[in-house]
Amino acid sequence: MEQTDKPASAGDGDGRQGMTRRRALKILGGGAALIALGGVTGGYAYRRSLRISPAEAARIGKARFVVAGGSIGGLTVAARLLRGMPEANVTLIEPREVHHYQPGYTLVGAGVYDRDDVLFDQESLLPRGMRWVKDSVEAFEPENNRVVTASGEKVDYDYLVVALGVEMDFASVEGFAEAMESPHAANIYDLDSSQKFRRLARTFSEGEAVFTYPSGYLKCGGAPQKITWLSEDLWRSAGHRDGVEVHFHTPRPSLFPVVPAVDAAVTPLIEARGIHNHYGQDLRAIDVSTRTAIFEEKREDGSNREIRRHYDLLHPMPGFRTPAALRGSELTADGLGGQLEVDRHTLRHKRFGNIFGVGDCCATGAAKTAATIRKQAPVVVGNLFDIALDRDPAHRYDGTSGCPLLTRYGRCMMFEFDYNGELVNEWLYQPTRETRRWWTFKVHGLKRLYRHVMIEGWV
Ligand SMILES: Cc1cc2nc3c(=O)[nH]c(=O)nc-3n(C[C@H](O)[C@H](O)[C@H](O)COP(=O)(O)OP(=O)(O)OC[C@H]3O[C@@H](n4cnc5c(N)ncnc54)[C@H](O)[C@@H]3O)c2cc1C
Repeated sequence: MEQTDKPASAGDGDGRQGMTRRRALKILGGGAALIALGGVTGGYAYRRSLRISPAEAARIGKARFVVAGGSIGGLTVAARLLRGMPEANVTLIEPREVHHYQPGYTLVGAGVYDRDDVLFDQESLLPRGMRWVKDSVEAFEPENNRVVTASGEKVDYDYLVVALGVEMDFASVEGFAEAMESPHAANIYDLDSSQKFRRLARTFSEGEAVFTYPSGYLKCGGAPQKITWLSEDLWRSAGHRDGVEVHFHTPRPSLFPVVPAVDAAVTPLIEARGIHNHYGQDLRAIDVSTRTAIFEEKREDGSNREIRRHYDLLHPMPGFRTPAALRGSELTADGLGGQLEVDRHTLRHKRFGNIFGVGDCCATGAAKTAATIRKQAPVVVGNLFDIALDRDPAHRYDGTSGCPLLTRYGRCMMFEFDYNGELVNEWLYQPTRETRRWWTFKVHGLKRLYRHVMIEGWV
């Protein structure tokens, strides 16, 4: 009696309930199959959308595409080129056998990643069908459409992509090299030094910790702030905060002037933590014998004065420069600090029309980040195909970049911004809030995006 009174959907073993469960499973299975089918079809359609037509590929034929520099910029462009035209003739010139995931250096310095987490075997990253010249470019000869490598090999091209990145210029700060060898200084812009910083920070419990920011261009304009804030948080949670003074010296007028909305949100949070921010101060020299960092301060009346700060732990930042082969070549111009002279929207060289640039080495004014490259690579490849097919380059880069600003352990402000310093895709990021979600994404998601989306040419 009881059984027959129960609604069919709540039964406990009669025939109708068995039917319902099967039907539910069928519906679920059907739904999953539809999603899978949609995924496969969507994936297939996306893969097809990256390809140029067979007729266009035939017109490009065996034109020689050469990519100088095989880190994230060069690899992403090379892989994306081959997604567009699998039979393309692509050569990559890169001396390193080990690839460094540099966005992970901050997390190495902060003790979240280990050394092995940021290293990849270069060969394992190379797209199939590409030639690898394991050598450095020694000279560019744009009039001859040729580059010459350190071992003297001449590599001719029809189209060249320059992706040489930027490097620290130790000579830009007097005493910098000596300081980096000393037991009280290290920075996160080099893997060994990042590991050293981690050791120094973990054993530091008392004294003055001084962090600096360089003038001129640098890669990842947020990293010097991130390591300052993470270190402060480390000392706070270790119970050492009362004994440690944290100083951040920057030649800029504020913490994050490039994106005013983020600057306005983050500055009060950082100031509330008792970090001393010193604006308008440029690191000029380090006196290792007295452990003194020496800054030049530009005052509002136009005069300069010297500021000296004693340190017990120093995270110094020098200026940056492009590699010698680029900064000494015809591919740069006066006033660009050795960077590649490209149009900031098409990424095409302003004087040599068959040369393009991607990533940090380009004089675009965009942030020098991997996030920038994710947006630039499809523009470069699209325009390469355009000019190889005798069309005007139709693809445009709008300056978009991204930054995961790690404000403390477990918290991150994630945002994207354009050439004008305006926030982009605000709805997605909640950019002026410190969230755990974006910390988790920075630690676990971004490396996968870098390795499996960018380096595979899916951008
Ligand atoms: C501490 C730190 C934190 C960062 N955090 C982030 C982050 O959170 N998010 C983000 O998006 N980005 C971040 N970045 C920035 C990001 O790593 C760089 O923007 C990116 O690596 C630039 O790629 P690239 O290919 O232009 O140059 P690079 O990665 O610098 O590579 C240049 C390549 O050129 C090669 N090369 C140099 N000279 C020659 C030559 N003469 N011939 C041939 N090859 C040559 C080099 O061996 C190298 O492989 C961070 C960087 C650092 C250092």
